[in-house]
Amino acid sequence: MPAPRHPASRSGNMDDRDAGIPGLDEARTLARDLLATTQQECPGWNPPPFTPDLYARVLDIAVLRVDEAGPWDAMYIPLQAKPRIILNTRNASAGRVNFSLAHEIAHSLLDPAPSGTRYFRARTDYYDGSVATHKLERACDEIAAELLMPGLWFREAISRRGVCAQAVPVIAGDFGVSLEAAAARIVETAESPCAVGFFHHTDPGGRITSPPSASRAWPVSEEESGSCWRTRRVFHGTGFPWRFRTAQPVAADSVLMTTALTGRPGSAVEAFRLGRTWVALRVTTAAVGASAGRAPRAVIGAFSPAQ
Ligand SMILES: [Zn+2]
Repeated sequence: MPAPRHPASRSGNMDDRDAGIPGLDEARTLARDLLATTQQECPGWNPPPFTPDLYARVLDIAVLRVDEAGPWDAMYIPLQAKPRIILNTRNASAGRVNFSLAHEIAHSLLDPAPSGTRYFRARTDYYDGSVATHKLERACDEIAAELLMPGLWFREAISRRGVCAQAVPVIAGDFGVSLEAAAARIVETAESPCAVGFFHHTDPGGRITSPPSASRAWPVSEEESGSCWRTRRVFHGTGFPWRFRTAQPVAADSVLMTTALTGRPGSAVEAFRLGRTWVALRVTTAAVGASAGRAPRAVIGAFSPAQ
């Protein structure tokens, strides 16, 4: 199958106004309706995970998986006879493929009368940049999140696992989503203000690098390794008023650094400089991809106000 040639999220005719694109509440309702229909049609279903292939089957959409070079993740083709979704599994985690499938299913919900419009989902900034496209893609992401991590089940998972760094991979695994998708959902669902972030080892140019092997004597200073651990991405809940900067260095005496060096989870109350203020935060940490003799690939930090 040829890779999409069109450098936009969709081709075909669509007005640049956002007419007809639902707001987020309406998007969530569409997702809940599909969930309810799927539960009715599949009485033995016992999620999580909320397998998106099942939603596609209920909607009579064919799902094809291909392994292709190229920057695209997924495509929705609303054929009259039988609509289809094509997923590119090359270098994509199972969680990412699930989210891409749920996102394309969302396009089918928002474009139920086949208009000939095709939708692409890409890894890089592949979209046409219009307000309408942004609103449409945002609505599809919201529907995808609600399909894979419905509020009722997700709140229950959070109250069982707690809002802490170690819960992030567990919840992501239970719901079949990426760590980042789980983190984004945790901060927006948690009852008290929190933030969940990912910290990576980078070189001075900000590129993510492999940390020095754990067989070396620890700690390796930043000067020595020419690199350090930094914020890559932090998801902030609505009630969490401060912001971590991207590429903000992790302090040498932070529990985040201890986890980066040892691979072991940790917790502490620490002061973080966020914007212009120092804020006391309760922080829990967990390593991603740590194994004997190998430093973690990333560190997850979960943050809440200390008082
Ligand atoms: Zn899309």
